[in-house]
Amino acid sequence: MPLVRYRKVVILGYRSVGKTSLAHQFVEGEFLEGYDPTVENTYSKIVTLGKDEFHLHLVDTAGQDEYSILPYSFIIGVHGYVLVYSVTSQHSFQVIESLYQKLHEGHGKTRLPVVLVGNKADLSPAREVQAVEGKKLAESWGATFMESSARENQLTQGIFTKVIQEIARVENSYGQE
Ligand code: GDP
Repeated sequence: MPLVRYRKVVILGYRSVGKTSLAHQFVEGEFLEGYDPTVENTYSKIVTLGKDEFHLHLVDTAGQDEYSILPYSFIIGVHGYVLVYSVTSQHSFQVIESLYQKLHEGHGKTRLPVVLVGNKADLSPAREVQAVEGKKLAESWGATFMESSARENQLTQGIFTKVIQEIARVENSYGQE
């Protein structure tokens, strides 16, 4: 029987950028219309990647801004992060930069397993953040960047398999030091 590895991933970002919709699409395979501000929700899913199985535990958070203080539960015992902004909101992109700094301070590590996600890419007429800006920010962290739409199941699956791969990549790079 394959070993099932446990991975805890926290989804962070400004409110209404699509954190719940992405988690819900990934786990339930459907898009939620209408806005439902999340308090805090957790989801579990077994993810198979090649020969490996992972028990992915997702924490969908209520949304933060630049003044938020991140609780210890978002730092301790967390393997990786999905940081989400909306491509239709420059402000949500700025919030991501400050959240990353807080995570970095909290972990005291130079490399964090992070997937940066520019969501709502289907709303291109309302776009305020170009893909190249997201890509540049993720590169400056040594992280992965993706644009997505929570309306599309396939794009959403990619985010969560990517964060599992990022966790392995960062763990391996520490192992080699
Ligand atoms: P959260 O507060 O970050 O968890 O955001 P929600 O998942 O609750 O989404 C906020 C609103 O944006 C809801 O009305 C969603 O239906 C909508 N939404 C989320 N993701 C997308 C997306 O990729 N495209 C579009 N068009 N709407 C989205």
